[in-house]
Amino acid sequence: MSRGPNVTVAGAGALGLSAALALAKAGCTVSVCDPARGAQASAVAAGMLAPVFEAILEPTGARDLGLLLAARNLWPDLAVRTGITIERSGTAAVGCQDWLAVIRTQLARHGMLGSELPRKMLESLVPGLAGNLDGLLLREDWRLEPRAALLALRRAAEGEGVTFKSEAMVERGRADWLVVATGAGQDLVSVAPELRELRPIKGQILRFMDRRGGRISVRADGAYAVPGSDGLAIGATMEPGRNDTTIDPVTLRPLIEAAGRLFPDLAQAAFDVSAGVRAATPDGLPMVGLSQTPNVILAVGARRNGWLLAPLAAQIVTACVVGSDSGPYARQLEPSRFKGVSGETGRAQ
Ligand SMILES: Cc1cc2nc3c(=O)[nH]c(=O)nc-3n(C[C@H](O)[C@H](O)[C@H](O)COP(=O)(O)OP(=O)(O)OC[C@H]3O[C@@H](n4cnc5c(N)ncnc54)[C@H](O)[C@@H]3O)c2cc1C
Repeated sequence: MSRGPNVTVAGAGALGLSAALALAKAGCTVSVCDPARGAQASAVAAGMLAPVFEAILEPTGARDLGLLLAARNLWPDLAVRTGITIERSGTAAVGCQDWLAVIRTQLARHGMLGSELPRKMLESLVPGLAGNLDGLLLREDWRLEPRAALLALRRAAEGEGVTFKSEAMVERGRADWLVVATGAGQDLVSVAPELRELRPIKGQILRFMDRRGGRISVRADGAYAVPGSDGLAIGATMEPGRNDTTIDPVTLRPLIEAAGRLFPDLAQAAFDVSAGVRAATPDGLPMVGLSQTPNVILAVGARRNGWLLAPLAAQIVTACVVGSDSGPYARQLEPSRFKGVSGETGRAQ
């Protein structure tokens, strides 16, 4: 059977695997290179698919709500194709009434309304939650299990004929196209100079292994709690400029205190800590699309929302290679929107 173009994807995180799968489905011959056993940021993430809370809690988020919702809306189809389970029970904002009033106002700005959660229902949805907190449920924000999702994406990609190599890419390679999905990595900066726009933001996250109850995620002032099969995740630190995965007890202290405030019985409980590095662009949105280097495509810089944005990035990457519909948000994510790559602007035509 004749196949479409050869594509090498550098990086097997959420973005690289989603792109590899979409490209293979579109008829390309795809090979993925990644030297790591487990993808870096994608494996430690909490797994929230949270367009609404990311939009209202992040300073620039309101601008991006449409794009974030569009990305989320691509997930049900991807989940069916890969066997990834999406938990759609929703997310509760929890806190004092003053903070919840701010959340209500923000939601109203976007024409949304959360459901007030009577105390008994809140207790059953979020076992162990502190008695002084009230809650507001929003169905729009979902979640997945990142490690299981990585495995499922890889299996689905293999099922479509994608091959995997355990090696780092340091040059362009010979494939017709190269997709750079290397997270915060800079090995390919000479191939794709736009990578210089990325800044690392380290994130440390706690996992309370013995706490598995509850289905919904929780967003509170300065912390979130996300249930999962490997425990309750409480996250996460935002450490701009840090590109390491060292566990640092001092930086973690506020997060540990937040865990105790949200769930008093966790104050003395055992937890695991993991760390990953998010890659961020100057405007907080990823760079997805053609590089100034011919036949090189970027899918990097998804900051706090790499899981949420992965299917949207995959759609755009595939459109660059096979000329399919890239959707209405491709322009907003073009790498050429940044100036300052060695004083040049935009990509070569
Ligand atoms: C603590 C924490 C919590 C988070 N929670 C969420 C969340 O709830 N929801 C959400 O949507 N996002 C979340 N994120 C963000 C999300 O994890 C990232 O945006 C996303 O994982 C980025 O995926 P990626 O594929 O771009 O990068 P990565 O997952 O970092 O993968 C990049 C891969 O590229 C490989 N690589 C690097 N250099 C090379 C090279 N030269 N050649 C080949 N391969 C290379 C690396 O080994 C790595 O496997 C969180 C992040 C952190 C740190």
